[in-house]
Amino acid sequence: MTETPHAVVTGGAGFLGSHLVDSLLADGYRVTTLDNYGSGRPANLAHVESERFESREHDVRDEFPDFDRVDEVYHMASRASPDDFASHAVEIALTNSEGTRNAIECALAHDATLLLASTSEVYGDPEVHPQHEEYNGNVNVRGPRAPYDESKRFGEALAVAYDQQYDVEVRTVRIFNTYGPRMRPDDGRVIPNFLSQALRGDDLTVYGDGTQTRSFCYVDDLIAGIRAVVAADRDVAGGDVFNLGNTEEGTILELAKAVLDVVDTESEITHEPLPQDDPEVRRPDISKATGALEWEPSVGLADGLERTVAAFEESE
Ligand code: NAD
Ligand code: UDP
Repeated sequence: MTETPHAVVTGGAGFLGSHLVDSLLADGYRVTTLDNYGSGRPANLAHVESERFESREHDVRDEFPDFDRVDEVYHMASRASPDDFASHAVEIALTNSEGTRNAIECALAHDATLLLASTSEVYGDPEVHPQHEEYNGNVNVRGPRAPYDESKRFGEALAVAYDQQYDVEVRTVRIFNTYGPRMRPDDGRVIPNFLSQALRGDDLTVYGDGTQTRSFCYVDDLIAGIRAVVAADRDVAGGDVFNLGNTEEGTILELAKAVLDVVDTESEITHEPLPQDDPEVRRPDISKATGALEWEPSVGLADGLERTVAAFEESE
């Protein structure tokens, strides 16, 4: 009889991490989360009753604890809200460099597969649209987003270095704007901001004129993509990088209107200054993932927003 596979999920108490934990447990894994509860919440895992689950308070900037066996490491830890890029700059930069090193070392020690959560931010304010994996990006190394996007870029480079030198099995996903239940209402990212504002009856704060675009992916689609990348054969996904996201692109003003359509509210739209280096456009080219893996997103924005509103209302 084969032993139960053990997955270590860093950032497991966060938005994406907690959904990943649910997915792995449902498939029979033993799961251990490592989280410093900086932007994550134990409440995101309070529903888990499985005996195969353990949560540990641990900062990934510190060496990982000893484990008996590890089959897969999902390195999801990192604050991800632009609101935190200044206030937690050093923590973020080290989580994605020192923390990534510790995650890779854990995978190396156990001959495990590492899933690295990278980001569309590695493309910066892109001059190529939509963004495909071969595009090297347009990132301001000294800008306000640098602690996040440059450390994510370094994390990817470190993974490639370990793969070359030590043959560690690292698979990287570049995650594009993803939303859903369990995002903190005060997270600072646009969908939790707009939903909380609409539910309170406050005006929705569109930064700039709202013509900048994003492409929003519902969490269940994203988690299915991550699982597909790790499940794929080595000759299909080994050592590789995949964009994951939804290709439905819209302006932030259109998003604000979509939120006002799904929430019964008196809120209107107000404008605030656009932050420096805010990307003008963003849309993933996901042809690599859809071609190699049996995956593509299926939840549209209106449907995903309705599911997220319901969860936000429930948690109030
Ligand atoms: P989140 O803030 O909800 O989750 C991050 C989790 O990591 C939190 O639980 C936090 O407490 C934990 N964490 C942060 N620093 C840590 C440290 N030093 N040690 C231990 N735990 C730490 O954010 P999320 O949206 O779930 O993002 C998860 C991952 O996905 C991040 O790596 C992020 O960069 C990446 N990502 C997310 C998106 C998105 O749209 N949600 C887009 C691109 C990339
Ligand atoms: N944004 C906005 N109002 C808000 C929060 C964000 O208009 O209350 C804009 C932000 O300027 C950006 C887009 O929405 O153009 C997406 O922002 P988010 O912080 O969610 O993620 P980003 O894609 O910038 O990393």
